[in-house]
Amino acid sequence: MSLKHTDPQAYALLERECRFRAESFDLVPSDNHPSPSVLEAERMYPLFYSENDGRNFYYPGCVTVKEVEELAKARALALFPGAEHVNVKPTDGTRGNEAVYRALLRNGDTILSLGLADGGHLSHGLKWNYSGQDYKIVSYEVTSDGRLDYDQIRELALREKPKMIIAGGSSCPFQFDFATFGAIAKESGALLHADISHFVGLVITGHHPSPFPFADSMMTTVQKTLKGQKGAIAFCRASEARNLDRSVFPGVMAHATGAQLLAKAVAFAEAAQPSFKTYIDRVVENIQALASEFLACGFKLVAGGTKTHLLILDLRGMSMNGKEGEAKLEAAGLLANKQLVPKDPNPPTITSGIRFGSPAVTARGLGPDDMRAIARWVKRLLLDGEDPARVREEVKALALRHPVPGLGS
Ligand SMILES: *Cc1c(COP(=O)(O)O)cnc(C)c1O
Repeated sequence: MSLKHTDPQAYALLERECRFRAESFDLVPSDNHPSPSVLEAERMYPLFYSENDGRNFYYPGCVTVKEVEELAKARALALFPGAEHVNVKPTDGTRGNEAVYRALLRNGDTILSLGLADGGHLSHGLKWNYSGQDYKIVSYEVTSDGRLDYDQIRELALREKPKMIIAGGSSCPFQFDFATFGAIAKESGALLHADISHFVGLVITGHHPSPFPFADSMMTTVQKTLKGQKGAIAFCRASEARNLDRSVFPGVMAHATGAQLLAKAVAFAEAAQPSFKTYIDRVVENIQALASEFLACGFKLVAGGTKTHLLILDLRGMSMNGKEGEAKLEAAGLLANKQLVPKDPNPPTITSGIRFGSPAVTARGLGPDDMRAIARWVKRLLLDGEDPARVREEVKALALRHPVPGLGS
């Protein structure tokens, strides 16, 4: 019996969601569409408890899961030359960061990280997150034109003497110069933690500098530009391996399922293929096409453009805020999220910007011409005040020609 017959109510929600996704474009830069192989690995591997610390298994029947985890570890390490130790268990990035902090820091230690309003992540010190409660947070900011100021970061590091500096963020059209971060960390006596969750695919394919050998620890999510299922992996130096592994299990987690581990292993193998390099090349080409067409349409971009897979429209001085813009785009089937811009006068629930990314639409096979078409739809919606219903039909027609991988059409 299929779900359609056993639970029509649940099935109807599933079907509606799939149809909505098939008829829309996901331009949220943290979203992506994993390959059918990744989806199959996660769906088909049986569910059973296999809690372990790498040496001791606490349940019987762990026949292949140990090999699954070893495979995921070997493949993860192979993606990042210079990395020494990896833990592939974390179920999400927020957890992965927590495990790293608990392995390397003590409560009350100071962390220097990118401010949340400037593109940092909530696990880098939001006051309602464990990170903001367990550690003293000092923030570096981006300049008013949306760039990192390494002199300011160095000055802050020398003055505040943080135990850890975090390089990385979620809404950054600029790149992180890990060599410079490494030098600042060394000079100020801090550890360097790299959080490459968003731009990991660019690191693997050489479009963004690698954190190694400069970072003492690194964390990345698997579901974003790495194109896997929901999950994360955390790295540290060989000397801290035991510490990190204990911090993950039993420190912040109990069980990581074999299904999650197998799906990670499959995604890591795919990321090592030439086809993944081709995919990320296209992600970069596509965001550049979107950026130039936005500029040609008369939009302003934070930092003037982008060196990553995402860009931020700066709506200051226009008749519409980020929240209103997001709603208009959504009504037309274009999903892009409201986003604070540097020194934003609006609160995070309103904002003055909208963030766009190319990973998910590139996974559906869109190219630069399609990206320019998207920019012109956005112009008609946000600048010309056109009715979203008309644009919706055009979006739907293009979307249906590009099925979501693993979803059919
Ligand atoms: C997405 C992200 C995370 C957390 O990922 P979740 O899996 O959503 O917990 C952590 N750090 C950065 C920089 C991110 O962009």
